Amino acid sequence: MSSNSEIDALIDLMAKLPGLGPRSARRAVLHLIRKRALLLTPLSDAMQQVAATARECLNCGNVGTTDICDICNSEDRATGELCVVEDVADLWAMERAGVFKGRYHVLGGTLSALDGVGPDDLRIPRLRDRVTAENITEVILALNATVDGQTTAHYIADQLEGQVRLTSLAQGVPIGGELDYLDDGTITAALRARKEL
Ligand SMILES: [Zn+2]
Repeated sequence: MSSNSEIDALIDLMAKLPGLGPRSARRAVLHLIRKRALLLTPLSDAMQQVAATARECLNCGNVGTTDICDICNSEDRATGELCVVEDVADLWAMERAGVFKGRYHVLGGTLSALDGVGPDDLRIPRLRDRVTAENITEVILALNATVDGQTTAHYIADQLEGQVRLTSLAQGVPIGGELDYLDDGTITAALRARKEL
């Protein structure tokens, strides 16, 4: 510990962040204190600002600082394509890639019999409403390649069948990946999703 209770309290809070343990929290806090003007004060201001304004978009579940997020507000994003993801982190990952120009729908998890998560616990009813209200022509299921993710994708596909074009992300060899290192499931999925050259 740091021999100061206020700094210790800050270290304890930092250590709760994903990817940080007590040791890296101590190093981060020390760094912040040394860079007080450059880093600590602006960080504290930014945190206060976000703490006061952060909320979930009422339409898609993205996290922003307004009731309706920038993506839902942008007419340019009304392409008729709706990309369904499990979590806001997945939406942000898609946005980082910068290749998808439509809108998103964040489910807030996956169906799970084990954890007692049903369709009404996720934003599935809202998804059905949006398909009609926003003239959606294609729903892209960008769910994780886990058992729960794929169960959820099949459930949504059943719900929307006949109303809209349904697609899912391809599964297979990652960019830069070597076949020898892939598991059997990935190789099977990649072979099934093969395409003409
Ligand atoms: Zn939104």
